[in-house]
Amino acid sequence: MTTFSDLGLPQSILKTLEQAGYERPTPIQAQAIPLLLKGRDLLGIAATGTGKTAAFALPILAQLADRKQPLRNRSCQVLVLSPTRELAQQIADSFLVYGESMRIRVAVIVGGNSFGKQAQQLQRGVDIVVATPGRLLDHADQGTLRLDATRFLVLDEADHMLDLGFIPAVKRIVRNLPAERQNLFFSATMPKEIAGLAAELLDNPERVSVTPASTPAERIDQKIVHVAAGHKVRLLTELLATRQAERVLVFTRTKRGADRVAISLEKAGIGAAAIHGNKSQPQRQRALNGFKAGDTPILVATDIAARGIDIDGISLVVQYDLPEVPETYVHRIGRTARAGASGTAVSFCAPDDQPLLRAIEKVTRRTIPAETDPASVAELAAAAPAARRQGRGGPRDGVKAQRPQGRRHPEQRAQQGRSFGGQRRPNRAPQRTAEVLA
Ligand code: AMP
Repeated sequence: MTTFSDLGLPQSILKTLEQAGYERPTPIQAQAIPLLLKGRDLLGIAATGTGKTAAFALPILAQLADRKQPLRNRSCQVLVLSPTRELAQQIADSFLVYGESMRIRVAVIVGGNSFGKQAQQLQRGVDIVVATPGRLLDHADQGTLRLDATRFLVLDEADHMLDLGFIPAVKRIVRNLPAERQNLFFSATMPKEIAGLAAELLDNPERVSVTPASTPAERIDQKIVHVAAGHKVRLLTELLATRQAERVLVFTRTKRGADRVAISLEKAGIGAAAIHGNKSQPQRQRALNGFKAGDTPILVATDIAARGIDIDGISLVVQYDLPEVPETYVHRIGRTARAGASGTAVSFCAPDDQPLLRAIEKVTRRTIPAETDPASVAELAAAAPAARRQGRGGPRDGVKAQRPQGRRHPEQRAQQGRSFGGQRRPNRAPQRTAEVLA
């Protein structure tokens, strides 16, 4: 059984991992870390929940520690591109946690926050920039960030970048990077365009895959409920009324739909909040924090807002509307059953949505069992165990990102003392050497 110390990571990082309660590397970490420490380019086929953030953050930090370079004004050594603001913040938090023993400066460069403040943060230079492509390009165009000293490029959730139309921006960013660099490319699925981008970007890459593309984790109990569009609210209310103190993530197709569903649930006495792109960044973060803390049991989200959100203990995902893009089904249900837990995914299918369901079943290569009786649906939900943990043997796709009881998540720990904008210092500031710039 591989341990972290077999992988060639420095002592300082091993100690941090031990403190974080990480006992063993996940499969993607065990495979990717030694290759990345050798400086190889990497093509990682892995969804969130597999431990891929540590798989790229740890070897990059180890290399930064090994070859410490002075900061250069308006420059960064590491550039991580993320499709969403929330994921960018999470990745930055992870770098700060994993790099706790090092003096690293991390900047989160995303839309929705002050450009001027970000420019100020970048002025003296940082080690790591975690960014969404649009805002990063703005800084590159304005000259507030130069990319000619960047030695590492990480492209995370490349398939989501494609969904969101970010590929042209990514290509423009890459043209500004030095040719001599290490490239890390992660995607949960490999549609043609993404395979093409990977071939363009990567230099003789190693390939590491931990979940077969587009195959939902087998530990998720999936059900389809055929329901008239006009009955969805009632069905959802019935379904959720039977569940107590559990985290449920509900997906809607539109922002207005998310608001409408959250309001209906609230009216029915079920605590719910909506999260979508029309909400301000503080509003989004407040909703997310309430959900994480368990104050709001139901989060109603659009795909873009929910992407990359790393929340454990979601026992049920409800697809109030089926997604237009069939691969999105896989990403959505993957929000439950994270970090070794199992979960339930219930998807509503209105008569007009039949073609969408067929497309999903084609992509997932399985027929999703239908539940027709609403009473049974409510029972189904009530019987669903609250994010039950799997034993040490782990699920079949080999993901064993388990944490010992009683220990907090590094992300949770990092998050505790920090507002979303990162203006507040972490509450462990006295012990920390890393500088937080977000
Ligand atoms: P990610 O796939 O990077 O979003 O990680 C999923 C979750 O697993 C995160 O909450 C990590 O903190 C956690 N995690 C990552 N690697 C390990 C590990 N080796 N042992 C325990 N937990 C881990």
